[in-house]
Amino acid sequence: MNTVPAGLVLVLNSGSSSIKFQLVDPVAGTAVISGLVEQIGEPGGAIPDHAAGLRRIHQRLADSHVDLAAVRAVGHRVVHGGMMFHSPTLITNAVLAEIERLAELAPLHNPPNAIGIEVARADFPDVPHVAVFDTGFFHWLPEDAASYAIDRDVAIEYGIRRYGFHGTSHEYVSREVAVLLGADLTEINTIVLHLGNGASASAVRGGVAVETSMGLTPLEGLVMGTRCGDIDPGVLMHLRRTAGMGVEQLDDLLNRRSGLKGLCGSNDFRELLERVADGSAPAKLAYDVYIHRLRKYIGAYLAVLGRVDAIAFTAGVGENVAAVREDALAGLDGLGIVIDPQRNRAGSGARIISAEHSRSTVLVVPTNEELAIARAAWQFV
Ligand code: ADP
Repeated sequence: MNTVPAGLVLVLNSGSSSIKFQLVDPVAGTAVISGLVEQIGEPGGAIPDHAAGLRRIHQRLADSHVDLAAVRAVGHRVVHGGMMFHSPTLITNAVLAEIERLAELAPLHNPPNAIGIEVARADFPDVPHVAVFDTGFFHWLPEDAASYAIDRDVAIEYGIRRYGFHGTSHEYVSREVAVLLGADLTEINTIVLHLGNGASASAVRGGVAVETSMGLTPLEGLVMGTRCGDIDPGVLMHLRRTAGMGVEQLDDLLNRRSGLKGLCGSNDFRELLERVADGSAPAKLAYDVYIHRLRKYIGAYLAVLGRVDAIAFTAGVGENVAAVREDALAGLDGLGIVIDPQRNRAGSGARIISAEHSRSTVLVVPTNEELAIARAAWQFV
């Protein structure tokens, strides 16, 4: 049966050279159309800037016969909300200026986010534009989890604290867990493992995030596709002194030439698994380091939460790689965590993969950040 949607939300994720878009029916929870405009501003490319990129999106929507009058709001993914923004925020000139100012904390992400907002506001002037912050869900981290143990004055002056990222996904998944368990969100404790190209873990108590693995930047925590995750900061000083590396080189090393890619040359998990199967020693080490770090975080968050009702795997690797889920939780029967190997390897979509007698329920929950952003923006219609 075809029902006419009450309205649609255009969700935009503007990067430095790309704009991801999805047109969402927030009530039905479905995507009408989605896509990606790439190579914005690249030499020789056909799309000189974000305004031209957005015109392309308009064109694609028109080509698929979308009635643009049905777009009742635009939701923007914004990476850094700093100390100021915690919940979805209606974008005004003042809000946009603050998002631009926060480029100080997210120099690669907030500037293109702000440009995307600017051009979209010009293009859709009559509907609310809403910013949804990647840091938002972690705004209420307890002070002991949010603070780095460094000189307090320096920390305050430069805004050095743990902000956390992937918040939209962690919030969405932790809520879905409550729905799947038929439980009251405020009464369950959940560990969410978002394992994509970027990867992060969170501990959620009664719907409120109390710990997360990313920090001032998305570099901290788990082993990722190309980022190192946790590392002794002494390594930076050492490389500065002995290899003469400057800030840009260190940034490139830790953000783009580390993680799985640094360890074995590939950040594509499918390729990594093929190489492990072929007997590659570097690929095996990369896999083992990845799993080891993941297990350390799971153990830490068991201690942070005390009682864990659910452990949820999400994103590209978390949703698709049964071996990672199995290895991450192997041998934890004594802690009440038992995966059912059959359930883990079979099925698709949101599902429970733990054994009946497992004290903590283990789940796979596909993330859907676009839907979460669309629903948030819909509140302002
Ligand atoms: P992001 O949104 O952070 O770019 P994704 O959540 O899409 O990342 O996850 C990307 C990662 O998931 C890649 O390492 C990719 O190889 C892996 N991945 C996606 N699908 C599969 C699959 N079916 N089997 C193994 N790995 C997968």
